[in-house]
Formats: sequence, structure tokens, C-alpha cells
Amino acid sequence: MSGSDDAHGPATRAIAAGRRAEWTGPVVNPPVWRASTHLYADCAALDAGKHGNADGQFFYGRRGAPTQWALADALTALEPGADGTVLYPSGCAALSGALLAVLSPGDVLLVTDNAYEPTRAMATGILKRMGVEARFFDPLDLDAYRAAFCERTRAVMLESPGSLTMEVCDVPALAAIAREHGAVSLIDNTWATGLGFPALAHGCDVAIMSLTKHVGGHSDLMMGSASAKGPTYQRLRKTAQDLGHVVSPDDAALALRGLRTMPLRLERGAASALGIAQWLAARPEIAEVLCPLLPGAAGHDLWRRDFAGGCGLFSVTLASRDTAARARFIDALDLFGIGYSWGGFESLVIPFDPASIRTARRWPAGRLGVRFSIGLEDPADLIADLEQALARMGAA
Ligand SMILES: *Cc1c(COP(=O)(O)O)cnc(C)c1O
Repeated sequence: MSGSDDAHGPATRAIAAGRRAEWTGPVVNPPVWRASTHLYADCAALDAGKHGNADGQFFYGRRGAPTQWALADALTALEPGADGTVLYPSGCAALSGALLAVLSPGDVLLVTDNAYEPTRAMATGILKRMGVEARFFDPLDLDAYRAAFCERTRAVMLESPGSLTMEVCDVPALAAIAREHGAVSLIDNTWATGLGFPALAHGCDVAIMSLTKHVGGHSDLMMGSASAKGPTYQRLRKTAQDLGHVVSPDDAALALRGLRTMPLRLERGAASALGIAQWLAARPEIAEVLCPLLPGAAGHDLWRRDFAGGCGLFSVTLASRDTAARARFIDALDLFGIGYSWGGFESLVIPFDPASIRTARRWPAGRLGVRFSIGLEDPADLIADLEQALARMGAA
């Protein structure tokens, strides 16, 4: 597949990415190739097909067809430094598939303590069963992280900002230390995407995204991706083929549709989130705003240094420690749906309590969290909704 296009701006790249004439024909978008069987002209062609396993070659449905190839190619173009992208049936499958590609029995995996919860579950479940030892580290303590490496450390799993609690960490430093120790660094880059945080350019080896979030963008598909440079990409690809990972061409076409407007949606989400975060920061009901976009907030300086953009996802903690008050607040919101996931066009809200999950970086017990995914609504309407819901929270 083609490498990334560093010559143009992000919006231009998102429009052009993956639209190869041999896949689209004379139309703008690649057609939806629904295919399990790929047909061969004769026995000689069938035989020849067994010996090639390159990207963009017809073989059998599990290796995809032009619709999936165009999406993978587009994602590669949006990740500076990547030579290829593997698609997975969900973000969770991308995380587990990438970890399985780089780890073997006896290896040690370092996992950031603010990782997405299914990443933790993979590390302490299937990987443990396979004989991989997972050790969790505080992503904000570089000395402790450096000290956590041993002879057997083969990989580190990063995520910035962290799930729910939104810590921004020094990814270039964390990735460089991993490299010094001969370990592969993988990052869950769902929040920023390659547009907001070019992870490979910042020293990571594998950039993973849940495409369910920003790329899909319309809350109607599940998919994941992992992008990497040559040899690492080939390992990811081989493991995904062995595991039988495949995505539907219909979903790939939806993801391509979402991708074209992603830069606009990210920009709008980030602008609205910043305004709402500023408004929330001045409210007495809010203890802390966990939003890297907000000047003065934790992680803002690192975000400014390393990121080219953000998105509409951030969290707050409440001054109240009463879970019933939090439920009153969330239930009173009109314009925010209550549900998992994020990155869609519609605003969402979810309560969270990570105290019981974290092991390396403690979360204050009893501190109640609320996470918002700010959608494309008018921000003034969202603020008015938050205002009336905060009033309902206080009026017990
Ligand atoms: C949602 C999410 C995932 C998992 O993606 P799915 O497509 O839902 O499996 C991974 N990482 C982060 C940070 C997420 O928020």
C-alpha cells in the first residue's frame, strides 16, 4: 500500500486518501465489493495466487477486496511514517490482535495504568494464560516506568489521554525509553487519531484506533485498525490473517464515508468541548475538569507540545460524593444520551469510578467522575442543558 502523504494538510489528506483509480473506477467512492469467493481464470492462476500474499491482491474474501483495501490505504495515508494498516472487527480486536502479534510466552508487557479497560482485561486474562506477564505502570512517573523494564520486557502499551481520567503522558519519552530497551511500543490513539497525534512520528511502533469512534463518526459501525512501519506491519498482518480477522465491505464503506468529514468533526467537537469545559470549570458543582484542551488543566502543556488537535471527549469530577446526586444530574440531561462509546455526531454522557480498577496510579476513592462526548449540536444548547441538569442535581 502507499505510504503516508506528508505534503498536504490534514483535511486535504482525508479527502484524497485511499481513492485509487484502480479501486474506484470512474466514480468518487470505491464500490462495495461483497465477496467471499474470488474467482480464478484457470488452474495456473489459482496456483500462482497461493504464492503471493501482497496487499491489494485478490485471493479469498478473508484478505478483503478493494473496499477494505481503500480504507486501510486511507488510514495509512493519515498516519505519517506508516507503511500499512490492518483492519479489525472492533477496536478491542485491534488491541488484542496487535498485542498477540508482538508477544510470546515468557515476555513481560508494560501497560499504562490508565488503559482502556478491555486492554487491562486482555493483559490480565488471555495474555496471562499465554504466559505473558503484564505489569502496570504510572504513565506520569517516568523514573518508575524506566525502572519497570527487565530483560524480558518485549512491549509497552500506551494510551494518551488515558481512558476516562484523561492523563496526557510524555509519549515521545515513554516510546524512546521502550526503544532503548528493545521493546515495541503500541499506543491506543483513538482519542487524537493520527491527525491530532502522529504517533509513529513521535516514536511509537504501532498506532491503534477504534474506528468505531471518530472515523465511523455516526454511531453505526464497529471496527478497529493498527498502523505500523514495514516489518512490524507485516507481523500485524500475518497475525490478523492467522486469527481470521476480517471486516465487512459495507462497514468499510461507512468508515470511508466517515473519514472524509473526520477533520471537520474533530475540529468542531474540540472547539465545543473547550467552551463547555471552560463553562464547567467555573461551576461550584464541578471539582475538576479533566480536559487537556483547557488551559491550566492537567496535561494541557504536554497536549500543546505534542498534539495538533483534540476532540470532544473529556471528563469532570464532581464536588459532591453522592452517587444519587450524580445520577440525578445525568438523568436530567436532555441532549446527552447515556451510553458507551463516543466520537459520534451526538452528545453522550457516562458516569465512571476508576478507583477499583487502577493499581499503579491511584484514583481518590469516592471521587465521582462523569465523562462527556461532545457532539455536533450547538454548544449553547448543550450548556443550557448542563445548567438545568446541574440545578436538578442540587435540588435533591
Ligand atoms: C472504545 C474504545 C476502544 C475499543 O473500541 P471498540 O471498537 O468499541 O472495540 C479502544 N480504546 C479506546 C480508548 C476506546 O474508547
